[in-house]
Amino acid sequence: MLTPSLIGATTLLCAITAFLPYQDPQPGYRDTPRLPDGWRVHDSDRPRPAAVDPGPETPPKAAPADATALFDGKSLAAWRGRDGDAKWDIADGAMQVNRTGDIETKAEFGDCQLHVEWATPNPPKGESQNRGNSGVFFFGRYEVQVLDSFANPTYADGQAGALYGQKPPLVNACRAPGQWQTYDIFFRAPRFHTDGTVLAPARVTVVHNGIVVQLDEALLGPTSHRGLAKYVTHGAKGPIRLQDHGDPVRFRNIWVRELQLERPAAPK
Ligand code: MG
Repeated sequence: MLTPSLIGATTLLCAITAFLPYQDPQPGYRDTPRLPDGWRVHDSDRPRPAAVDPGPETPPKAAPADATALFDGKSLAAWRGRDGDAKWDIADGAMQVNRTGDIETKAEFGDCQLHVEWATPNPPKGESQNRGNSGVFFFGRYEVQVLDSFANPTYADGQAGALYGQKPPLVNACRAPGQWQTYDIFFRAPRFHTDGTVLAPARVTVVHNGIVVQLDEALLGPTSHRGLAKYVTHGAKGPIRLQDHGDPVRFRNIWVRELQLERPAAPK
């Protein structure tokens, strides 16, 4: 039986919750296509990878002698933006997303090893996919997700270190907002037959803050939102693109090593 005091308490609770922002405890979708592994794209019910503390942030990692510097903290000369020059802000040795659009490298890369350092805004703002979202796209189309996944529930295949919409990271290796984080990504470009069909899919290994979160995973195709990926043939090299998702994510110390995977043949 509802006593007057209980009715009063219930009314008060309803009044309070009506003014709280709604947070979906299971962000994601239940109406998207199924991936080959049986989960839906951005599946709400897919288990979220366990968080693993990667340890404290580290100073910028020195580039090996044969690396190509893509960002040294001072100049965006290696990048272009939507309408020409890259217009992201530069401050304190970092570039920062500023809602002027994605930027991509002027040079093109195929098989490669990429080092990127990034930091999401502190204090954090927004929830789920709207908190510290950016991304690293190989060939301008295959995304390794950048997100503030520190105590920020989102669908598993959309969190930091995910092959967005395809493979969640093995674990959640995110540092707290504002701290510098590292990606070391090993990317093998897809190969196509001359008729445009796939000879070999792209393969990706991602090390996040020193922790392997993707190990030689095959990509299903270019990144898409709420849809199944499907390859479209392209050349042996393409630009590396950084995403402007509207959140002021920072990047520093970006370098790449092109990989020559075919070793010299033995003498006959
Ligand atoms: Mg993204």
